[in-house]
Amino acid sequence: MRVLITGGAGFIGSHLSEAYLKQGHEVVVLDDLSTGRLENIAHLRNNPDFQLVVGTILNERLVDKFVEKCDVIFNLAAAVGVELIVKKPLESLTTNIKGSEIVLDMASRYNKKILITSTSEIYGKNINGPLKETDDRILGSPLKARWSYSTAKAVDEMLAYVYWKEKQVPSIIVRLFNTVGPRQTGAYGMVVPRFVGQALKNETITVYGNGKQSRCFVHVRDVVGALMKLVEEPTAVGEVFNIGSQDEISIEDLARQIIKITKSKSKIKYIPYEKAYEEGFEDMQRRVPDTSKINKLIGFKPTYTLPEIIKDILQYLKRNKQ
Ligand code: UDP
Repeated sequence: MRVLITGGAGFIGSHLSEAYLKQGHEVVVLDDLSTGRLENIAHLRNNPDFQLVVGTILNERLVDKFVEKCDVIFNLAAAVGVELIVKKPLESLTTNIKGSEIVLDMASRYNKKILITSTSEIYGKNINGPLKETDDRILGSPLKARWSYSTAKAVDEMLAYVYWKEKQVPSIIVRLFNTVGPRQTGAYGMVVPRFVGQALKNETITVYGNGKQSRCFVHVRDVVGALMKLVEEPTAVGEVFNIGSQDEISIEDLARQIIKITKSKSKIKYIPYEKAYEEGFEDMQRRVPDTSKINKLIGFKPTYTLPEIIKDILQYLKRNKQ
């Protein structure tokens, strides 16, 4: 197979590229290196089955050329990370809406299978848990930058769904819940690499709000395995799937666990949301996925525990001296 991965130099994309190359497939990565990093894919570049194209998914001509020549597309190119979205809302909206539309349009032109990555942000402030794919979205004002990400991704989902309904483009949507692992950077706010990095340097651990908000963290390798299985599964087409762990932990306990595992001297500092992000910032208090749909279809179950994930990230950061 020739696999096209937009955003393939990013955290998840680089792991997906690696996994496909390991199986003997060809991989073409299209990445503008905005948040993607060359070092994520440096170890793949000598492989004759690997090609890196530096460019944006907003470039129709470029997308056209590589979609035509591939067998399946993974659209992972996106502006992600709550801090990035809040800081650069316009750029984020453009990449996440226009970019995905261009990729979907080309998938339609050449009738290629496409997997669109969406997010648990879709559910907004819905703190019911576990969240099912059919559950309601509860969002704050569109003038609050945080909700623009949720909205942009919802537009992507709707586009993918109607391209399937009206033009029979075989598309699959996945909603990723707090995916973490080596190569994820804490620079855009992602909490686990940030806390592990802070702990390694014995710096203050920056817990936002009161730290009682909770999340479930899944290892990127478990997610990548699920994405690869889904595109092989004909009945996944036209469907949306949650992917994540159901092992819930508060951010405060996460900080404590990271300090313990890294044997750090760091102390926890609580920072009000308006200082961490912006005035009036709204966080999700809880986010737990219902993963019974994907479990039933492909037997998905996370295999890494949180301590294993933390140790893996720790090793990566130590090796890369970050
Ligand atoms: N968070 C934190 N300190 C940080 C970065 C994030 O306390 O330095 C919190 C953040 O406010 C949120 C949780 O950790 O409640 C998860 O944040 P992340 O950006 O990793 O993911 P998301 O908010 O998209 O679930």
